[in-house]
Amino acid sequence: MAAESILLVEDEPEIREMLSFSLVRAGFDVIETESAETALERLQGPPPKLLIIDWRLPGMSGVDLVRRLRRDPVTAELPLIMLTARGEESDKLTGFDAGIDDYVVKPFSPKELIARVKSLLRRAGSTADGKVVAGPIEVDTRAHRVTVGGSRVRLGPLEFRLLEQLMRWPDRTFDRAQLLDRVWGRNVFVEERTVDVHILRLRKALSPFGADGRIETVRGVGYRFAADESARGDGGD
Ligand code: CA
Repeated sequence: MAAESILLVEDEPEIREMLSFSLVRAGFDVIETESAETALERLQGPPPKLLIIDWRLPGMSGVDLVRRLRRDPVTAELPLIMLTARGEESDKLTGFDAGIDDYVVKPFSPKELIARVKSLLRRAGSTADGKVVAGPIEVDTRAHRVTVGGSRVRLGPLEFRLLEQLMRWPDRTFDRAQLLDRVWGRNVFVEERTVDVHILRLRKALSPFGADGRIETVRGVGYRFAADESARGDGGD
């Protein structure tokens, strides 16, 4: 994935195409879906960075989709913007109760929506330029490049996604099943042990830069990224 991906759920083709065009021009990857049901199918794969969901959809409504996504640990914390129609402003409270992070009222300018997208991604730990930074470690999700103190670290695609996932939630421990769901995707059947293999590779790649200690093992649970550079967990020496 070269750019940060956004899952767009909108049944009106004109609005969907207009939004998709503007988002792509702003440097995002867009996955277009026209219903809640197809969105759920797409979410079986690696999760996107953000969701834009229209309130009024055929079949399952946007707000029911939001409720469902918030109950699922893999999608519970994905940044989410809802599109609502004018006059439905009272619905926004229902939307916030369901778990939306922000909303825009139709008709809106693509510029406004993109500003909201960028601000929400920033709040979710991603910068507007698609970089996740912790001290000297920088993950550039658009250029698909990791550097430590400016030096390039060569990582395989899974190690890249593992590091990005852990860095987005510093100090938070993920168990192996959670990492499998978030990095490999749900439709992939691999053993939990596979996570350990890739964590090992990730540490090995970071080790010449003295950054391997940031990937901590939480015994009996899983792994986390240490927010504090001086912190050393079970995974350190
Ligand atoms: Ca609609």
